[in-house]
Amino acid sequence: MRKKIGLSFTATNYANYLNWFDENDLGNSFELVTLSFEANNIEDMLQCDGFILTGGVDVHPSNYDGDEMYPNMPNTFQPDRDNFESKIYRHAKQLKLPILGICRGQQLVNILEGGRLTQDLGDTKNQVHRKLETDKKHSIEIDSSSLLYMISGVRSGEVNSAHHQCIDPLYLPESLKPVAFADDQTIEAIEYSDPSGKGFMLCVQWHPERMDNKEFNPLSINIKKAFLDAINNSVKMKMNIINPANGKIIRAVQQDDQSSLESKFKTLKDGQTAWSKVPLPKRIETLQVYSKLLAVNIETLAKTLTDEVGKPLQQSRNEINGSISRIEWLTNNAEKYLAEEIMNAAAGMTELIRYEPLGIVCNISAWNYPYLVGTNVFVPALLAGNAVFYKPSEFATLTGLQIEKLLKEAGVPDNVFQIAIGGAATGEELLSLPLDGYFFTGSYKTGKYIYEKVAPKMVPCQCELGGKDPLYVTDDVEDIVAVAAGTADGAFYNNGQSCCAVERIYVHEKVYEAYVDAFVKEVQSWKIGNPLEDGVYLGAISRESQLEFLEHQVADAIAKGATLQTGGKRIEGNGYFFEPTVLTNVNHSMSVMREESFGPIIGIMKVSNDEEALQLMNDTSYGLTASVYSTSRERAEKILSATDAGTGYWNCCDRVSAALPWSGRKHSGFGATLSHAGIRAFTQPKAFHLRG
Ligand code: NAD
Repeated sequence: MRKKIGLSFTATNYANYLNWFDENDLGNSFELVTLSFEANNIEDMLQCDGFILTGGVDVHPSNYDGDEMYPNMPNTFQPDRDNFESKIYRHAKQLKLPILGICRGQQLVNILEGGRLTQDLGDTKNQVHRKLETDKKHSIEIDSSSLLYMISGVRSGEVNSAHHQCIDPLYLPESLKPVAFADDQTIEAIEYSDPSGKGFMLCVQWHPERMDNKEFNPLSINIKKAFLDAINNSVKMKMNIINPANGKIIRAVQQDDQSSLESKFKTLKDGQTAWSKVPLPKRIETLQVYSKLLAVNIETLAKTLTDEVGKPLQQSRNEINGSISRIEWLTNNAEKYLAEEIMNAAAGMTELIRYEPLGIVCNISAWNYPYLVGTNVFVPALLAGNAVFYKPSEFATLTGLQIEKLLKEAGVPDNVFQIAIGGAATGEELLSLPLDGYFFTGSYKTGKYIYEKVAPKMVPCQCELGGKDPLYVTDDVEDIVAVAAGTADGAFYNNGQSCCAVERIYVHEKVYEAYVDAFVKEVQSWKIGNPLEDGVYLGAISRESQLEFLEHQVADAIAKGATLQTGGKRIEGNGYFFEPTVLTNVNHSMSVMREESFGPIIGIMKVSNDEEALQLMNDTSYGLTASVYSTSRERAEKILSATDAGTGYWNCCDRVSAALPWSGRKHSGFGATLSHAGIRAFTQPKAFHLRG
């Protein structure tokens, strides 16, 4: 795969940057990518291996506390460009990717490191530096201990200039050192003062891309070569994002490493206190804007989600709409549940509770419903005044990046929400950071590991884990065909990859035959295939590795006496598809009735009475949800009350309400998201005893 050089777009002389790299430079090794502030193509940026911050219009003075008016100022500034390029710089720095700043690029890096600009060089110096018809030419001296000297091999040389601003030497940040000067002492190049542990970074005030003699001037050609070498040598951790419907790589994204995560953590540390002081109505409004952006962008977001997790497009839209309605509930109720509560006010003593944020919370998330499970955590966490370190699953990375983009567009500050890219190793790194709370959604195995690892920190740790959710159909149901169709949907929606998918079905013997018959017919009526096609109900399985596990469950069940009613094997091809599978004559010695399948497979077991059903329903290490279908609410509630699960459903299943706590028991986890409990989960109550 060719390495990508990101060039920040500029309306002035952009072609010169493209033309600086000829076929000999690029060949099969590199390609140029235009990063345009107008398109705000952050996702393209994430794919780049090195960056050139180009020249162009002055950086807006608000970025360095400069005067609004100054000589030779441009008619218009480009604040969007300033903003976009600062994201590029921060990203590149965090991931130690090579950066070359040219002219304005040098000035911007200086500002982003905390420096200021001399806003206009003044008449005398402008005669040396400021372009009128053509670039000005002048000589420079280079520090012999610099990277620039190592690269160019020269102590002095001639460069071209086209600027009227420069780095203010009085405000040069400590992190930078000047390494080249014009005769009038204008700073002509900067580098990191201490480059150890950092990526390649060189900024020059001149224009190496358009020098007259750029083919042989070492202050052009050597810089270009050193930059390309740095890209080649930079340690990159790329992760391929695979489309499970066709097995093709959608794109490769840069993973975080320890130092980039530490740097992101520091960013959050800087931002959390200020965010907690933003008035709650403003925080609510920001999350409401985010919700609106979800609605406006739903088609793009749904397509990305389908591409990376394989669920049918309509199910992706449903998920985003579900997230929008959860945000509506959370934002409508945040004030009620985060408000200070006066518990007693009598005889000169007021006792009250304030709900303070935890601080910086970590959200390690799953891929099966990234919008929903993410919303459950980062929305109330942000509402409560926390900063969030969000780690999307490696199987839903692009969605995670889109979530980040929209949150920031909505007004969540950059230093309040940061995203950690990668898989288990990235999650591990987060566990070693001093975060103030861990909110995990995923498997029991990982949850247990995280809980144990985080325990010594003595901070809240909440785990929403897997399930083996039972459903019982009693003998008094009226419309067995409708019940079969509804419960089949509960088992197979999203290919069964829901934490609360129905995973085991118990049917009263009096309706068993009719139920199985209707259930199998329903399952066989579904369209399986390309998740982008209309009418497809079962798309691809998100993780290839799960196919083997499903095959194992089928083989294990059949070996122990189960009957395969339909399905039972993977569908050959490039994508990861598995036939919807129904097994009967099953029992609790079989994996399919004990271990979370997380796939399109179900076991249906005959029972002779409610007691037997209840005993089997509770015969599990999990405890997320349980469901009973019956015409009698009393009968259903009696059974549901005796189940050891966080949620009970009567005549429904596989559903979540924002108003109710979402919480598991046993190996399904502990703590709650959603509801008032899920808002306060991201706070620490402080008691005030106020006399007077
Ligand atoms: P998973 O446990 O494999 O991964 C979840 C997350 O943990 C991912 O982001 C992963 O990168 C990260 N991770 C993995 N190893 C880690 C480690 N050692 N340290 C830190 N982080 C690590 O789960 P999954 O496959 O993404 O999700 C499927 C599981 O999630 C199923 O069991 C499902 O039931 C469960 N789930 C539960 C709920 C719920 O609300 N209860 C909701 C959705 C999914």
